[in-house]
Amino acid sequence: MLLWILLLCSSSLPRVPSSATSVGSWEVVRCEHGDVLYLPPYRELALRVAEVLDREYERVGRGVGYEGNVAVRAFLAPSEEVFDELTSGRVPDWGKGCALPAYGVIVLQPSREGPGGLRTTLAHEVSHVLLHRAVGGKPLPRWFDEGVAMWYALEWGRAHSFRLALASLLGRLVPLEEVDEVLSFSSEEAELAYAESFSAVVFLLSRYGGDSVRRITKFMREGDSFREALSRTTGLSYDAFLGEWRSYIRRKYDVVLVLSEGPCLWIGVALLFLLVYMVKRRKAKRTEEEKEWEID
Ligand SMILES: [Zn+2]
Repeated sequence: MLLWILLLCSSSLPRVPSSATSVGSWEVVRCEHGDVLYLPPYRELALRVAEVLDREYERVGRGVGYEGNVAVRAFLAPSEEVFDELTSGRVPDWGKGCALPAYGVIVLQPSREGPGGLRTTLAHEVSHVLLHRAVGGKPLPRWFDEGVAMWYALEWGRAHSFRLALASLLGRLVPLEEVDEVLSFSSEEAELAYAESFSAVVFLLSRYGGDSVRRITKFMREGDSFREALSRTTGLSYDAFLGEWRSYIRRKYDVVLVLSEGPCLWIGVALLFLLVYMVKRRKAKRTEEEKEWEID
C-alpha cells in the first residue's frame, strides 16, 4: 500500500533531472533515467544511487537490447520493517533487494549493505527491469532472468563456484526449470540456484556468442516465446540446450575445482603435498635399492 501511494504521488511531480523534492516524509532525487526515493538520513546515499542508476541503466540497456527511456524508481528502505512494507513481505530473509519489473520499481536496503553491495544489488535489480522491458513484458524462465541480472551485476565468487562444483559432483544440481520457485528456497538452495542460473547464461554467451542475450530479446520482441527465441539463437531445442549446459557443468566443475575453490583449499593443498612427498620417497627408496643391488 505504502509503495503504491508513494508511486502515485511521485509520478505527478515534474520531471527535472538532479532536482530534489518530497512526497510526504519521503524525499525524491530525480536523475536522467529515474527517481530515487529516500528518507532524510539517506540524502547523500540517494544522490550516489541516482548516479549509479543512470550509469547502470545505460550499460545494462545496451547489453540486453532495451532502447527505451522509461524511468525507473528506486526506493531506499531505511529499515527491514519498511522494506517488508514496501515489498508486501514477499522477499525471503536472504533477499537483498527487490524489483517489480512491470512497474519499473526497485526496492533496496541500504541498512543491510555497504556501498559496494548496494551498487551490485542496484545493477542486479535494474537488469530485471530492463530485461523485462526488452522482451516486451513476455514471461521468462527465472534462471535466465536471474542469470542475466547476475552477469550484469558481476555477481560471481569462489563460494558460487565451489557450491556449483560440489553439487555437480554429488549429483545434486537443482533442475534449471525449478529455479522458478527460488523465492521458496532456503538460502543455501537459493545460492546454488543462482550459481546455476549464472553459469547457464555464461554458457549461452560463451558458446553461442556474446550477443546471445540481445538476439533472444530481439526475437521475443518480434513475437517469439522464450523457448523459440533460445532455439533460433542456439540452433538447439530448449531441452537440448539444458542438456548441453549440464554436460558443460560436468566437464568444467570437477574434484580439482572443489579442492581448490572451497573451504577445503588447505586440505586439498595438504593432500597434494602428501601425495608428492610419498611419490618422491618411493622413488628415492627404489633408487637406493637399485644402488644396493649394484654394489652387491
Ligand atoms: Zn534477481
